[in-house]
Amino acid sequence: MKKILTITLILTALIIASTLGFAKYIGNTYVYGKSAAMDTLLNFLRITHAMQLEPLEEEELKALAIIADEMKKLAYSEDTDSFQVSYMEKKYNNIIRSVPVKEGDKAEAIPVLMYHHLLYDEENTYIDNDSVITVESFAEQMKLLHENGYRTITLNELEAFLIGDLELPKKTVAITFDDGYLSNIAYAYPILKEYNFKASNFIISHKLKEITEEFDPYQLQYLGWKDMVDTLDVFTYDNHTHDLHRVEDHKGYLVIKPLEEVVRDLSMNMELMGSPYFAYPYGQYNTHTLQILERLGMRMAFTVKRGHVKPGDDLLQLQRYGICPKTTIEDFKKIIDLH
Ligand SMILES: [Zn+2]
Repeated sequence: MKKILTITLILTALIIASTLGFAKYIGNTYVYGKSAAMDTLLNFLRITHAMQLEPLEEEELKALAIIADEMKKLAYSEDTDSFQVSYMEKKYNNIIRSVPVKEGDKAEAIPVLMYHHLLYDEENTYIDNDSVITVESFAEQMKLLHENGYRTITLNELEAFLIGDLELPKKTVAITFDDGYLSNIAYAYPILKEYNFKASNFIISHKLKEITEEFDPYQLQYLGWKDMVDTLDVFTYDNHTHDLHRVEDHKGYLVIKPLEEVVRDLSMNMELMGSPYFAYPYGQYNTHTLQILERLGMRMAFTVKRGHVKPGDDLLQLQRYGICPKTTIEDFKKIIDLH
């Protein structure tokens, strides 16, 4: 009883502390559709503001660890026939493939590409939405990578590279998708498979369906457990929050919700996906988020700040290149260092 009371007191104190703490967090105005330079500036401001937050006390972190443990027990489905169980059995492909690297061909830094939704040009009713690119553009970009001898790596391999355990040739990229749209299965998967490419898909796990819907390009659909089981030869499935991929006044729930809610959500997300890798919704986070991710054992986290990643980078603040409708093939060549 005394223990429950103590935990309740700590949690109440936490909520009050986090509310006061977040009041100082004012520079957060990210919306999709800004230019790359604006993205970089906003991210710089966001990180600067985030750094003004007080770090969490040891007591607070202990209380959060208790919540995380509770969530782990809840994540597994009781239903033994479900695709969730099949996913759990097959899931993470953590084989690290090494590749001979010739003298002078060692990559110092590599680009991580970020995609969202894909539609054929004739189906695309999203005008000026930076998160929707055409299948035609995506196919052209993948063909360019293939024809120029690029190799794609998994997030496991990327992590090994970033901690200095794996050498990679210069023509290496990592491909990521955010949000887990069904279009990634319908359109991106066959193209990636044709070239034997690997990609990561950051999933909002509460959106996952047990049985897949038929793909309809005129609806915004999310993929399901069965899709994940069927496409593990190309994709790994990673974390994008369980149900915090939402905004209020341009501020992501990840940075405005009480800390114990964040811990609850991320623990559930990690358990369901079976992955230690994360992408920040809308690229938003603060020092509390970083501390929580570290405590939960999240080993890499991706922002939307543009730039290559290299050994020595902060693994919880990794950069990516958002590929949007305005990205020309010339822009794409620059990103992948193809001259
Ligand atoms: Zn997202």
